[in-house]
Amino acid sequence: MSARVPAAGDRDRGDAGWTLCSAGGCEGVTGSAHLLRCGDDRVLVDAGLFQGVDEESGNDAPWPFDPRELTAVVLTHGHLDHVGRLPRLVADGFRGPVLATSATLAVAEVVLRDAARIQHEDAARARRRLRRAGRDPERVRPAYREADVAAALALARPARFHQPLRVGRRLRVELGPAGHVLGAAWALLTGPTDRVLVSGDLGDTDGPLHPPPAPPPPTDALLIEATYGDRRHRTWQATLTEFAEVVGRTLRRGGNVLLPSFALERTQTVLYALQTLERDGRLPTARVVLDAPMASRMTALYRRFPATLRPDIAARLASGDDPFRPARLELARSGGASRALNQARGVIIVAGAGMMTGGRILHHLKHHLWDARNAVVVVGYQAEGTLGRRLVDGAQRVRLLGETIAVAAEVHTVNGFSAHADAPALDAWWQASGARVLVPVHGETDARRALAQRAEAAGIQVRSARVGEALSLRLSGEDRAAAS
Ligand code: ZN
Repeated sequence: MSARVPAAGDRDRGDAGWTLCSAGGCEGVTGSAHLLRCGDDRVLVDAGLFQGVDEESGNDAPWPFDPRELTAVVLTHGHLDHVGRLPRLVADGFRGPVLATSATLAVAEVVLRDAARIQHEDAARARRRLRRAGRDPERVRPAYREADVAAALALARPARFHQPLRVGRRLRVELGPAGHVLGAAWALLTGPTDRVLVSGDLGDTDGPLHPPPAPPPPTDALLIEATYGDRRHRTWQATLTEFAEVVGRTLRRGGNVLLPSFALERTQTVLYALQTLERDGRLPTARVVLDAPMASRMTALYRRFPATLRPDIAARLASGDDPFRPARLELARSGGASRALNQARGVIIVAGAGMMTGGRILHHLKHHLWDARNAVVVVGYQAEGTLGRRLVDGAQRVRLLGETIAVAAEVHTVNGFSAHADAPALDAWWQASGARVLVPVHGETDARRALAQRAEAAGIQVRSARVGEALSLRLSGEDRAAAS
């Protein structure tokens, strides 16, 4: 692409202002990918995978831009719904730098390699099915392969918090701590005249591992996540008490506790909660088995990158007092060790996947769900259509691993384990940014609408983004005249 010399009239034609064109994550909570354009520079913030109901249509859809013309990609954090389409972007021709914190790049490497493996296995299964049906198996290809992941990681450019980097001809990008998960950042993009701030996912202000998001820098426009734009969280202490009650009563009746857990952040929070409750004498010192290889890798990254954690957690890691190690923690290193748990009693089993859509948790569910002494303790969001959601909704029987299993075990949801800011915290954050233009993203319709209504009542210009549609982020009308 040939760079054009900015002409004197650029500002009047709106060229120096920012335009947003999302490729996902603006109307729902997955597939985050926001193209921000300022003059000839184009920065894509996140390149996430669609999951759940949007998966089929979203991930194969063409990009609403040419990946070869992107100036840079910025990753706010390593969750799959923020990084999962990066290898495809590279396979489709993107060659610029990928900016993110070192911790996020390390998390993204684990997440993307795992995603490539799952895609490879899914594609192989689909090809076998087509072959048996006498049809052409070559029609099925994974969206990307291990080699595409390596090519994407080769573009990585680590960025430090609060150290602006020059990007393209006329832009600066600054990252700041967003809490949420290891390495998570918000991103401020500064053009010749206007600034736009992208919140990424903002962490809970009361979470035990990550500090609250850093205050936002002053900005003209703000893309803010709205996952819990219509909800208020309970405190961490209230959550811990509810968690202790359900785990305690299950162990007392001789049952096992199944904790389906997400690898990044939630597993570490659960291990920390168990250790805290043991040390406070609120739970007995039980066997805790971590049967989740990917979660083990993520826990190792938490130990390697303590800088973005709460100071007390970082200090404990530095002193060798591991906050993620309940007294009787074991890692299930083999299938045999995992199967031996079928006969064990009084064990807490932490296993992926978090929404019970696959992974080792399925085997444990098969051997535990039918027995009323056991409990499944749900500590994360369960999307519609998942096995986890059916259990939470009170299914009497479920199909898993080719069998029908009766559900006699207690299924209990502890709602307070959130890695996201709630409505009051989101409001405080956008207010502190001074933004005059606000685009709520990353939320279901009701949550985005609730946040939008509160912002509008405060005189903010609120805009809605739609996938593939260009949206100006400049202040419009009289407000603009008054502001200049
Ligand atoms: Zn996230």
